[in-house]
Formats: sequence, structure tokens, C-alpha cells
Amino acid sequence: MSSRVLPRRTVLQGALVTTVTLFNPVSRGWASTPEPGAIGLPPLDGQLLTDAATRTRAAEDFGHIVHRTPWAVLVPGSVQDIVKMVRFARRHGLKVAGARGIGESHSSQGQSQVEAGVVIDMSALSSIHEIDATSAWVDAGLRWKHLLEATLPLGKSPPTLTDYIDLSIGGTLSVGGIGGQTFRWGLQVDNVLEMDVVTGRGELVRCSRFRNRPLFDAVRAGLGQFGIIVRARVRLVDVPPRARMYHAMYQDLRLFLSDQKKLIAEGRFDYVEGFVVSTDSGRAYQLEVVKYFAPGSEPDDARLLAGLSFEPGTLQVTDSSYFDFANRLAPVVEFLQSIGVWEFPHPWLDSFVPEPATASFVEQVLAQTPESEMGQGPILLYPFHLERLTAPFARVPTGRDAFLFSLLRTAIPPTPEHAAALVAKNHAILDQLTCVGGKRYPVGSVQMSAADWREHFQPFWERFKHAKRAFDPDNVLTPGQGIF
Ligand SMILES: Cc1cc2nc3c(=O)[nH]c(=O)nc-3n(C[C@H](O)[C@H](O)[C@H](O)COP(=O)(O)OP(=O)(O)OC[C@H]3O[C@@H](n4cnc5c(N)ncnc54)[C@H](O)[C@@H]3O)c2cc1C
Repeated sequence: MSSRVLPRRTVLQGALVTTVTLFNPVSRGWASTPEPGAIGLPPLDGQLLTDAATRTRAAEDFGHIVHRTPWAVLVPGSVQDIVKMVRFARRHGLKVAGARGIGESHSSQGQSQVEAGVVIDMSALSSIHEIDATSAWVDAGLRWKHLLEATLPLGKSPPTLTDYIDLSIGGTLSVGGIGGQTFRWGLQVDNVLEMDVVTGRGELVRCSRFRNRPLFDAVRAGLGQFGIIVRARVRLVDVPPRARMYHAMYQDLRLFLSDQKKLIAEGRFDYVEGFVVSTDSGRAYQLEVVKYFAPGSEPDDARLLAGLSFEPGTLQVTDSSYFDFANRLAPVVEFLQSIGVWEFPHPWLDSFVPEPATASFVEQVLAQTPESEMGQGPILLYPFHLERLTAPFARVPTGRDAFLFSLLRTAIPPTPEHAAALVAKNHAILDQLTCVGGKRYPVGSVQMSAADWREHFQPFWERFKHAKRAFDPDNVLTPGQGIF
């Protein structure tokens, strides 16, 4: 028991908070002054915040559907703080999860929330330690956007970027990280070379393809179940400074899918995505492709677009800097925040559909998804090669190619009842997806049962459970995923 440490008052993000120094395992509460039975927290370089406002904020995420209030938020001042907190939690039966920031997680179903324990605000550790010709060694709380700001002056970028780059490196490495470059480079977890991980045992371990491989394979797309990623060496590739984006419309789904498949097979573009969009005459399909270039070496539009079957007169071509292309969703997000829609519930569903089943599955789902259920949220549809994927726990269909098919819903009206109804619809679609050999991309809102998770990780469920026993035997980490 420690009685020598007195409470400290400090100013954090504008709020005056009291930092606790004691934990009472009987009342399972925190204290800032000595009380019988209380145990001293290990000395921290950062802070453990227990004030109501911080805990309430940590019970929020982008989904605005699930709210679990943690007992505390750790703002780590060092990697050792995370080691100490995981060990402390393990010893006293608490749970721990990492999150992009306090209430700033982009999960949509409470994946980074913790009821009986501590959320770690990973944004507190967000330094870039080293950038060399082929990689960057960074803290996992860093956002991809800030990494890109540092690498682009050197003519370099991570090869695969998510559509929205204000996500944390640890957050997307925990789920996979897909984007329009995945057909060429794989997921972001296929482009991480090395990581420092605090396992559920409270051990700080470096892992890579060549060192502690079982941990490396478990943590990539491991949904936070085996360790907190604290640092990552991320692959960098050379990129030209400019990007030319092409949009074109299709009325026919099969023609659209066939052109997308052709484009990823031939590799004419550097980025291939697409959307289902609403038009006056119903749903249509929009191709979105990008070619990077250096000034003076502009892309040959005619050659790039030759033989594609989009509707005449629908082509739009836009040039921008590479950074503005990568950061293209920032103004959209800013607008949604300004009108309050960012705060609405987001019962998203992301799925990976085997290529042969894609046309019929998409038709079937669209037929049961009226536009009113989307709340003007986008529907993504684009292909990638499965052979590029290397992380065993990033579950995808078998076969040569698959499509990402995402219903990025906003619940309007933004009521809990409507959000719950859409989450239930997501589950019904997941059942249909499973029937065609598809897999869920587990970032959105689906209420998963134990049987659903078992099915999701097949044929690796036993391996997943074995890794849990090896790296987090007391089930300390990331309860919000609802797997164990
Ligand atoms: C607007 C928007 C656009 C998106 N676009 C894409 C996209 O194009 N492609 C794509 O793949 N995804 C996309 N996503 C989904 C996104 O990848 C997930 O939400 C992901 O969880 C990353 O979000 P985050 O950084 O906020 O992490 P969080 O949501 O905070 O964390 C995600 C999970 O990882 C755990 N975690 C967080 N940090 C760590 C860490 N350091 N170590 C171990 N576990 C950790 C958390 O506990 C949680 O379980 C998008 C989401 C939004 C809201």
C-alpha cells in the first residue's frame, strides 16, 4: 500500500482533473487519498484519469450506438506506462483496451470501449522515431495523416492508405486496413514490417516475420486480443507528387464489376475503388480510379481508359496533389461535423464477398436495402486480389479475388431504436454473406455471438484461441470486441 503519494491536480485538454494513485480491489474503485485496503498504482510517467467527464467521453465512438463507461482512462507518458497498466490490470482482474483517442475511436460498435477497466488513450504516444528509404518507425498512436505529412516531402508514402487517413496506425493494424491500393499492395497489415507489442501478459515484445512470428501473425488484424501495439515499422514506397482521379458512371452492375476486375488484373491505375450511388432513375455504379504522376509526365487518359464500358458523357477527371487525394475525405468529415450528422448513430456493415458471388449478392442486398436505410451514407464496392493478403487473422473469402462491399449507414432518424433495427438488419445480411462464403470486415456494427466469432475465424478459430491463451491468458485485453 502506498500512502506517501498525494493526489496531483493537473490541467488536461482544458479540464482540471484529479489524478488517482490508489486502487481498492475490494470496492474496485480508485482513490486519491489513502484508505484501508487500497493498493498503490505503479508510478506513471503519464496520468490515470477518473473524472466523470473523461470517462463519459471514453464511452463514445463513431458509431454512437454502444456506450460502456470505463473506470479510468490512461494517458500514457511512456510505453512503460502501458506495460505497468496491463500488468496491474492482470493482477487485479481489470480489462484494458487501446483507443485512437478519448471518445475519438472510429469503431462503430464499442470495439475500443471497456466497462470494468481502463481505456488507453493511444494518441498520447504519437511520435515518429525514424524515417528511412523504405520504412518509418512510429508510435502506434500516430495517425496515418501525420505520417504522410512527414513522408511526402521525401517523396514517400505508405503503399496502402485507408479512404480516411485520420485513423490511428495501431487502430487499423488491429483490424486490417483496406483501401484502393489493396489490389496491388495488400492490406495495411501486409505492409507492417515490425512491431513493439505489450502483450496481455504485460511483456513488451518486438515481433516481425523473422522474430516472434507467432505474435506478429496474431497481432496483425488480431482485433486487439493479444497485445497493445505500441510501435510499428511501416513500409514506405516512392510516390510521385500528383494524383489524377477519374470518375465514370455505369448503369449495369455486371459491366461495372467486370471493368473493375479488368483494371486490377491489368494494373493500369494505382488505385481502384467504386460506389453504388443513387440517381433520379434509381441506383447506378460509379468507378473511382487514380493514376499518380509527376508534373511533365501527365497520364495518357485515352490509353488508361481504353476499352472500358462506362456511360458516355459521364467521365470526370480531377488533378490534385497526392496529399489532397489521400486526404480527400477530410472536407466531407468537416462538413458532416458542422451539420451534426457525424454525431448520429452509424450502424456500418463492411463485408468481403467472394468474386464469383459478388453480382448476385450485391443485387440481393440492394433489393432489401432501400435508400432511406442508408441515411445518405455511401455504399462502397471494389475488388482486390486475395494473394496479396498475408495476415492469418484478417479473414477473407477463399479464391482469387474478392470485393469489399460496405453499407456505410447513418441512422436517420438518429434514434436508438432505429439504430438497433439497422444493426439487426446487418446481422441478417451477415447470415446471407456467410452462405455465399463471404466474411465480415469486423469494423462496423454487428452484434456477434460466440458462434458468429467461431464461424468468422474458421478455419483458424483454434489457432486464434491458442494465441489468446499464449499472449493474453487472463483475458485482459479489448473486451469490446465481444470475442472472449
Ligand atoms: C470515416 C471512416 C472511414 C474509414 N475508412 C476506412 C477505410 O477506408 N479502410 C479501412 O480499413 N477502415 C476504415 N475505417 C474503419 C477503421 O479502420 C476502424 O474504425 C479502425 O478501428 C480504426 O479506427 P481507430 O484508429 O479510430 O481505432 P479504434 O477504433 O480506436 O480501435 C480499433 C480497435 O483496435 C483496438 N486498438 C486501437 N489501438 C490499438 C493498439 N495500438 N493496439 C492494439 N489494439 C488497438 C481498439 O481497442 C479497437 O478494438 C473507417 C472508419 C471511419 C469512421
